[in-house]
Amino acid sequence: MTYLADLFIDGVWRPGSSGERFDVVDPSDLTVIERFAIATEADCMAAVDAAAAAQESWAATAPRERSELLRAAYEVLTDEVEVFAEVMVRENGKSWADAMAEANYAKEFFRWFAEEAVRVPGDYRLSPGGDKRIVVDRQPIGVSLLITPWNFPAAMATRKLAPALAAGCTTILKPARETPLTAAYMVEVLRRVGVPRGVVNLVTPVPTGPLVAKMIARPEVRKLSFTGSTEVGRDLLRECAETVVSASMELGGNAPVIVLPGADLELTIEGALQAKMRNGGSACTAANRFYVHDSLHDAFVERFSAALADYSVGPGLDRANRLGALVSVAERDKVADLVTTAVAEGATVVRGGTSHEGGAFYEATLLTGVAHGSSINATEIFGPVTAVVRYTDVDEAVRMANDTIYGLMAYVFGEEREALSVARRLEAGMIAVNRGVVSDPAAPFGGVKQSGLGREGSSEGILEFLEEKYIALTA
Ligand code: ADP
Repeated sequence: MTYLADLFIDGVWRPGSSGERFDVVDPSDLTVIERFAIATEADCMAAVDAAAAAQESWAATAPRERSELLRAAYEVLTDEVEVFAEVMVRENGKSWADAMAEANYAKEFFRWFAEEAVRVPGDYRLSPGGDKRIVVDRQPIGVSLLITPWNFPAAMATRKLAPALAAGCTTILKPARETPLTAAYMVEVLRRVGVPRGVVNLVTPVPTGPLVAKMIARPEVRKLSFTGSTEVGRDLLRECAETVVSASMELGGNAPVIVLPGADLELTIEGALQAKMRNGGSACTAANRFYVHDSLHDAFVERFSAALADYSVGPGLDRANRLGALVSVAERDKVADLVTTAVAEGATVVRGGTSHEGGAFYEATLLTGVAHGSSINATEIFGPVTAVVRYTDVDEAVRMANDTIYGLMAYVFGEEREALSVARRLEAGMIAVNRGVVSDPAAPFGGVKQSGLGREGSSEGILEFLEEKYIALTA
């Protein structure tokens, strides 16, 4: 398979102006798949220029036209879903099943926002004083910089590209260094279906931070949509303040799972496995802290451990492997260090706890005896490690669950009434009750506290790329 590995600026694939490239590595065997073009400052500025030049005409296209382009992209990705999934397996290391799930989820954003593009609401009303008509229109916010992480290289990009394009904004996509090939694939699909030049641009700047800052500082850039760590998100918010750029932020999480005394164990194991093991645990929504009631603790641990035995670890291209590689050896070592520290802090390894050589593999791991507030409990693990805290008092479990600066996702398993009452008390933007996965293009995705600002997907997602314009008419 050959991959596109250039920048896409003003409708043209081209190498960076320095001619330099960086390696894209397959984390399952550590071989170099491709050498991707490095974007220089001149390339980044050219991308902003192209997006700015195309903004007016793209905003003026009929919503139906934008809608049909997005729909066409959805159709292409549907036809090519396996090819698309394979690109992700290669550069991200995820399992085949995870790549297919992501490919299917990612393309749905094109379909969903194809539908939303033609449904943008406005308002028209008489003022309370009766002296004027208040017309509220919504218009595209303008050039949008979209920065995505490596863990869901396709879905995080479509979740931003689709609403931006639907709204009539032109875009500059900056994928993570680890996973630019998936982004290039998607941008090429948008080119193939006829998205006009300048409307979608792709840059991979090195060094990232300073060049992204220079793009944000350009007055033409009016929107930043970022998915990544809270640390980087804070820096970007500061940069956005300089030119008062509107920022949507999907940041880190530290999702608690509360297993209540009345939980159905079978349902809980099934949901907990999904919540933890989906995408090998590399998800900001991944279950990070398991608070299991004393009455179910031992049975939960026994059954969860037995279920983890089915997660054979190995390259994602071998479709039998349910657990792929982490994105890099550095990420794998971070996970391994967290486990080592957890053990030093008193946790017990019930299963796993080892790295595999030859690739960035880490075995499905289960730890018990983890203390609330210990390192592994307070850190986003981003790997296949389940860390269980035993509790006796539900109020205490809720307090511990909320004892974090994050508030993206939480899971509750229990008898429905009690689970719902606990869900209401949890500080999170999204709560799964008796289930392991929540993501859906039709649902608002986002966090509270330091997990983010704004929502993606749903009908809210397009509003992040629109701003109200009030026109006063005579009554
Ligand atoms: P992750 O833990 O998912 O790697 P990061 O926040 O480090 O989270 O990265 C998310 C995205 O942000 C990536 O595209 C990365 O290249 C980009 N990024 C990292 N540092 C900066 C920065 N200082 N300014 C802008 N973007 C950055």
